[in-house]
Amino acid sequence: MPDIETTCVQCRETFLFTEKDQEIFYQRNMMPPQRCAKCRSKKAAARADAPTRFEIVCDHCGKHDQVPFQPKVGRSVLCRECHEASRSRAKFA
Ligand SMILES: [Zn+2]
Ligand SMILES: [Zn+2]
Repeated sequence: MPDIETTCVQCRETFLFTEKDQEIFYQRNMMPPQRCAKCRSKKAAARADAPTRFEIVCDHCGKHDQVPFQPKVGRSVLCRECHEASRSRAKFA
């Protein structure tokens, strides 16, 4: 089977559905990919990241909150309210 040139449904770039990939897909009885490798990995990353929440204790007011990123050890973390407050303070300063 030759390589197939496919257009990514997401970014509209053409990518190669290679002979090797085709074999894997047909063996697993999967639909041919509609997205290029870049968009596929982005989608996978988004899915993996989405449910991740890190429990934090606000350095400013002591409130418990959850943030979508891993807080750095030794750095102060703020709850959403304090974070917003410090951001708007910075904007108007
Ligand atoms: Zn793409
Ligand atoms: Zn706070």
